[in-house]
Amino acid sequence: MEQSMFKIIYIIGWAFIVIIRIPFAWRTRTNRIVVNHKTVRERILLALESVGAGALPLIYILTPWQSFADYRLPAWAGWIGAAIYAVGLWLLWRSHADLGRNWSRTLELRQEHQLVTSGIYGHIRHPMYAFGWLLGIAQTLLLWNWVVAVAGLASFALLYFQRVPREEQMMLEQFGEKYRAYMNRTGRVIPRLRLK
Ligand code: SAH
Repeated sequence: MEQSMFKIIYIIGWAFIVIIRIPFAWRTRTNRIVVNHKTVRERILLALESVGAGALPLIYILTPWQSFADYRLPAWAGWIGAAIYAVGLWLLWRSHADLGRNWSRTLELRQEHQLVTSGIYGHIRHPMYAFGWLLGIAQTLLLWNWVVAVAGLASFALLYFQRVPREEQMMLEQFGEKYRAYMNRTGRVIPRLRLK
């Protein structure tokens, strides 16, 4: 019973992801891509992530095929998952709003690319990837299945750890000292503590 409710919450969250993303993706389309680092490795990892945070959760919700790997959690754990999901969705919306027409699904630079260092980007450099982590964690608390939990977290971890150093390298090559200074005052997904 509770598990059904958390499955519904998970799907509602996904609807929000789509609703948040579509208008921003649409807005970027006229800002032409001029630098593209979309490698085969990047494509494979993106596809794996779609399986871990899309296909497998959906198969789990709609079919009994993964039931051999089910686990149970108390209801409060599901509610914590829902709260983490909500924080993640807020981060996703905020980062799209701040990144505006500079957004890309992969490693790309656009014609009128501007370095964004304000809003949520004034605190962390990768709020959208912070959302990815929160989604992975929320998934383990909302969908009680080992296949879903491990695939969700592992596929995002693979993408995150190979992409972030390459993304930062790309930004350094494009924006030089400005990006280096920005790196020095911000954290990747956790705000940097500044002791005065
Ligand atoms: N890593 C960021 C952005 C993800 S979208 C986040 O997690 O929020 C990926 C694209 O955003 C990259 O290809 C790059 O072109 C762009 N990007 C990343 N950081 C940026 C910044 N501070 N300002 C402008 N564009 C940025």
